[in-house]
Amino acid sequence: MTFLTSDLRNDYPALRFSSPSGNPLTYLDSAATALKPQIVIDAVTDALGRYSAGIHRSVHFLGDESTERFEATRLSVARWLGAQEHEIIFTRNTTESLSYVAQGWPDDRRIIVSATDHHSCILAWDIGKTTIVPPLPDGSMDEESIVKEISKGDVGIVAVSHLSNVTGMSPDVRALATAVHSHGAILVLDAAQSAPHGPLDVAELDCDFLAFSGHKLGAPAGVGVLYGRAGHLRRLQPINRGGGSVETVAGVQSTWKSVPWRFESGSPAIESVFGLQAILEYLWDIDTEMIASHLASLRSYALDRVYSIPGVRVLGSLDSKSKGPLSFVIEGQSSHVLARSLSDAYGICVRSGFHCTQPLHDASRCAPSLRLSFYVYSQPEEIDRTVDALKRLVRASPR
Ligand code: PMP
Repeated sequence: MTFLTSDLRNDYPALRFSSPSGNPLTYLDSAATALKPQIVIDAVTDALGRYSAGIHRSVHFLGDESTERFEATRLSVARWLGAQEHEIIFTRNTTESLSYVAQGWPDDRRIIVSATDHHSCILAWDIGKTTIVPPLPDGSMDEESIVKEISKGDVGIVAVSHLSNVTGMSPDVRALATAVHSHGAILVLDAAQSAPHGPLDVAELDCDFLAFSGHKLGAPAGVGVLYGRAGHLRRLQPINRGGGSVETVAGVQSTWKSVPWRFESGSPAIESVFGLQAILEYLWDIDTEMIASHLASLRSYALDRVYSIPGVRVLGSLDSKSKGPLSFVIEGQSSHVLARSLSDAYGICVRSGFHCTQPLHDASRCAPSLRLSFYVYSQPEEIDRTVDALKRLVRASPR
């Protein structure tokens, strides 16, 4: 197992604070949102202090600087995804990015999603036309049944999570893309959990649209990304209409700006976009291959440790393919009560509940679960501390 150095923790001011109980902060909830390093805080402060000018509108030097930085961020995001600049649209978050496709893609045919998906990837679509494919008994995506469902015909869109925010498992995207494309449909990837793990390659993945949120990488909230193949973006209808997205406004004769600006109506979260550029540079500097092995090592370390808790049941397959969050229930224990106690007695932050994946929990006959999730600043000692605290809590509250 290889872990990143714990020196990285010095870059994250939040880790210097103690919890209300006086314990140091143990943050194992990064799949919900990642902590922000100082470099991001500085970029936002700088933006607020110096660049507070509208982009693409103001003809003055502050507007120029702001616009240049905004467009430079688009280039950084394109590099992170292996895409072209004009294939990147800034949105507010993953949820909004998926809605842009759901509401703007001109295709009336059926939609297929997986019950392993996040609610945002299930509810975005016209639910009357959506087939939700149940998971396999171990909680992983049933890719074979998705392909069978596609072959029944009349399918326009298949939308799935690239990395589950519960089981940490990924589907074979290439194989799925081949099946989707051979039936004339498009593949939409929810990359909210995979984009923080390192750069992606949309050409290799062969997806048609891909969505992620800046805050899960350590950028401020308020900026998300929608990638779309250039040809698809020309077909996609802008659903968020208004200032900034039009060339001329003359009633029905109005003309849209070119792609991607036609999708970016209204004033964007400029500071958050600059923060996104800062975090991408920060992550490149760490070494993205090391980030991937660090996160995979933490996941597998956590799995071993969590298995030492009596009565534990992990959601998802136990093989080494899993590399994201780890979710589990403990027999006879309420996950919410455990999470509250971890927080209040030990300063440990984990997530409890359905994690916006109720269909997955229901299909797996699983009560609300506990989820441990990690990022570049996480260290194995935090997992030890959490597992030891859980064992103490379970001992103190037997069934
Ligand atoms: N999809 C997945 C897999 C997620 O984990 C999340 C966040 N929990 C989302 C979508 C939604 O992200 P956001 O709230 O930033 O729109």
